[in-house]
Amino acid sequence: MAALRQRYRLERERRVRPDGARQYLGTDAEFGYYAADPYAGEVPDREPLTDIVDVAVIGGGFGGLLTGARMRQQGVERVRIVEKGGDFGGTWYWNRYPGIHCDIESHVYLPMLDETGYVPEWKYSPGEEIRRHAVRIAERFDLYSEALFSTAVTSLTWDGASETWIVATDRGDAFRATYVVTATGTLSEPKLPGIPGIEDFEGHTFHTSRWDYAYTGGTPDGGMTGLSHKRVGVVGTGATGIQVIPMLAEDAEHVYVFQRTPSTVDVRANRRTSPGDVGADHDGWARERRDNYLRVVSGETFEEDLVADQWTASAGLLEKLLPSFRRQGDRAEFETAYETADAVKMNELRTRVEQSVADPETAEKLKPWYRYACKRPTFSDKYYPAFNRDNVTLVDTADTHGIERVTAHGVVVGDTTYELDCLIFATGFSVGTSGVHSGKLPVHGRDGIQLLHAWARRGPRTLHGFTSNGFPNLIQMGSLQNASSVNFTHILDEQAVHAAALVAAAEAKGALVEPSPEGEDAWIAVLAEDAPDHEWFHAECTPGYYNAEGRGRPNGPIAYPHGAYAFHELLRRWRAESMSEILQPRNAAQS
Ligand code: NDP
Repeated sequence: MAALRQRYRLERERRVRPDGARQYLGTDAEFGYYAADPYAGEVPDREPLTDIVDVAVIGGGFGGLLTGARMRQQGVERVRIVEKGGDFGGTWYWNRYPGIHCDIESHVYLPMLDETGYVPEWKYSPGEEIRRHAVRIAERFDLYSEALFSTAVTSLTWDGASETWIVATDRGDAFRATYVVTATGTLSEPKLPGIPGIEDFEGHTFHTSRWDYAYTGGTPDGGMTGLSHKRVGVVGTGATGIQVIPMLAEDAEHVYVFQRTPSTVDVRANRRTSPGDVGADHDGWARERRDNYLRVVSGETFEEDLVADQWTASAGLLEKLLPSFRRQGDRAEFETAYETADAVKMNELRTRVEQSVADPETAEKLKPWYRYACKRPTFSDKYYPAFNRDNVTLVDTADTHGIERVTAHGVVVGDTTYELDCLIFATGFSVGTSGVHSGKLPVHGRDGIQLLHAWARRGPRTLHGFTSNGFPNLIQMGSLQNASSVNFTHILDEQAVHAAALVAAAEAKGALVEPSPEGEDAWIAVLAEDAPDHEWFHAECTPGYYNAEGRGRPNGPIAYPHGAYAFHELLRRWRAESMSEILQPRNAAQS
């Protein structure tokens, strides 16, 4: 165990970069090309809007769609979703790269299966099936009629006189909304590595979240005939890279995989499923399955694991590895009680590499040397076998902290220049740089106070993560002071139900939704009590977006410490017993 610890430490040290999170470039300004929408076609001109709606929802991914749907169920008429992309779908609109699949089971990931009557056909759905399901929800709940696509909200301003929000956009709109729900997602802005010379590359280049099928040919199912005579480089071996690389291997003349940190790549075992396989034979089956999944992955007691996949199998391990409210856990306790379980899992994954990759040198480079919970686990049965092909070369860049330089014709690692026709970045997304919490979308509340200024001194202040004093009728979605779980659509759906209930209650009473400062204080105290200390665990992890690129996690309560399952129960109780405490009298005349 001491030797393993030493190996993990060395591997971490060799990867930590002094520039940490600053090593990345955003895809705005001169790199805006990488974020442009390749799917929207020509965006038609339209007149700016100055009308008034009941609810404006910012973001047309599952968060926004579910909000729209739940509002409709509460009888709200004018719901306007504003979305940057050319259609609904959010991450599934943007990410259409070859091989894209959800690695959470479809029958719990796809929301509103009970309401739409749809039963997914695969255990893990292809991206296009999920995107079409997003469209299905929008159609079912009539969310297209008011939607604004290819439109970005640029500011939100509370108008105290009319008690409405003014929603300004980059298309010149300045419409009003009685309520605003922000559903802007977390991993939505593609990022690039700040490699010197990146702007000099003269071949073709794009980010995986903006796949250029006009260049590659083919579809998410493959058939990229445009690459048959092309040397393609891929930077990044995270959850995206491991799905894309086997597809490129099939179609490109040669693929160079530039790896810095290997992912853990566990068994995928995707398969077709019938409604009978997933118990889709009675009303409410999807809700039951989803609740069961959340119980299992949240460490709650359960009788049967309905989904029974690698996530649920590793949930027990993750529960032990990461400090939680059940086990505050310090380093000594971890080493005596749980380190062996972690080593067993990681050894199993390293053995999987040896058994799948023929060349021992390549296999050695593909082995992950860190603790299981340090990076997001990935799942594939095609990734390792791709390295047995003659047209795939693994280039390990850990010793040089990643690629050193990009030139007009290729990529430099150590003494070698790899000549490329096409360079694809599977380098992920900026965390926390979009939406109302990033400052890019200024929110001016009562008396013109900006949300981030209001939080500057004492940090974020909310009730349940949704609402903040001074910002009436503004409902924020996301994990901040709320909840998180691997099946994020479930979290979003519970948030949408809550948002719609708040609006319905305010409408019924003719009131505003706004917590008191005391209500916020009480919630922050609940979050602080039992907040686990993740710092020591993450500080020892190999760098990545889980630990702010090696700096450990920011201190302070981030999400409800007792887990998502308990949080949802708390919200249900609060709605039944205490919701009136958040309803404030209106001043303006009712319209
Ligand atoms: P990640 O941030 O997980 O991965 C980025 C990759 O780029 C890493 O391998 C990183 O290496 C590498 N990289 C960055 N800079 C350099 C450099 N200078 N040289 C070499 N390599 C570099 O992005 P992904 O798009 O893979 O995934 C992001 C998230 O999206 C996932 O964590 C997951 O939450 C979600 N996702 C979900 C899927 C699903 O099925 N549900 C599928 C795909 C994504 P290093 O590790 O060393 O930093």
